[in-house]
Amino acid sequence: MRVFFIGFGQAGGKIVDMFIEQDKKAPVRSFRGIAVNTARTDLMGLRNIELKDRILIGQTVVKGHGVGTDNVTGAKITADEIDSIINTIDSRGTHDIDAFVVIAGLGGGTGSGGTPVLCRHLKRIYREPVYAVGILPAPEEGRLYSYNAARSLSTLVNEADNTFIFDNSAWKNEGESVRMAYERLNDEIVRRFGVLFRAGEVGKTGVGEMVVDSSEIINTLRGGGVSSIGYAISEKVTKSAKQKKGFLGGFSVKKKDNAEEVLTGEDKSAKIIGLVRRAMLGRLTLPCDYTTAERALVLIAGPSDEMDRKGVEKSKSWVEENIAGVEVRGGDYPLESSKIAAVVVLASIGDAPRIRELLEIAKETKEDVIRSKERRVTMFDDDSVDPLFE
Ligand code: GDP
Repeated sequence: MRVFFIGFGQAGGKIVDMFIEQDKKAPVRSFRGIAVNTARTDLMGLRNIELKDRILIGQTVVKGHGVGTDNVTGAKITADEIDSIINTIDSRGTHDIDAFVVIAGLGGGTGSGGTPVLCRHLKRIYREPVYAVGILPAPEEGRLYSYNAARSLSTLVNEADNTFIFDNSAWKNEGESVRMAYERLNDEIVRRFGVLFRAGEVGKTGVGEMVVDSSEIINTLRGGGVSSIGYAISEKVTKSAKQKKGFLGGFSVKKKDNAEEVLTGEDKSAKIIGLVRRAMLGRLTLPCDYTTAERALVLIAGPSDEMDRKGVEKSKSWVEENIAGVEVRGGDYPLESSKIAAVVVLASIGDAPRIRELLEIAKETKEDVIRSKERRVTMFDDDSVDPLFE
């Protein structure tokens, strides 16, 4: 799939920067990416997105210093400057892309406010689907972040064609602060979404048993709402002559006669089914009740002689038995790697405790804000003290 990424705000920009870095190492370039921010220093810190593709917005309002955690201002600035963002996207070329993906931390200000606005405009202007990857804040970041995330997400699900969620709190380790974990978390994000978004593009190194193309990803995501991703990776299945860091944790120059073990068809199927089960039952980007997913996509990526049609078919049936809906798509794509990766997309999920919790916090926060406003008013209601002037 050819993807046009837009990183909105600090988190979004950093993650898109990593996608571009990953793309530079891949055999086929499939990604294009820009970053949008109200904070100049965040844009300057990026390494792989070209300077001309880093857009500073809101200069007259916040003078390059960011909007803090004020996502209403983030949304307003984005709406006011939407033309310059769209112009930059147009100038980078959109004729050959399959989808837009906007990435942002939903708890902050710029990305939280700007992402739903941008998705609305992209959908109006282009025919290609517009997806969002929204990062949820950890509870330790405070109520304002939760409040922002709940408001942003509630808006976003109506503006994007589908919203993938990554929950920071589910992924940071016990005792580790979110900040300390960013690099590791971003690595996990880019690894998973890299396999998904590259499907159908890396297959130049061989022919898969059951090739997936971008229309299958698009059809899986058609139902809208929020989606979660599971991922699992095998041990090394081939000896690698040369290791390069890639999105499966090491591309390698694969030689057939170097294979450590020659697997029979049954073994290959079993290995793929095992990986898919691990992907779906393990830690998801958004922990959720997978039995409420409406659709799913099963993707297997790895060395071409490890791909197995029966394994993919059986995995699909197993996923279908476990989710609410009956639409399960899937396939494989070969790539030069010493490992096999499985990605399971659980699309349009009906229940996720963390989202319920965020919505609840947002409701309480709104009520508290109203109550505290009332308290302030009543304290100075007494007119027995004369004001200095009327
Ligand atoms: P913005 O620049 O105003 O859009 O705000 P940020 O991008 O800093 O968004 C704030 C939210 O994103 C918070 O919940 C942060 O924990 C989270 N966040 C910030 N940077 C990163 C990052 O690099 N990785 C991840 N996973 N989350 C981040």
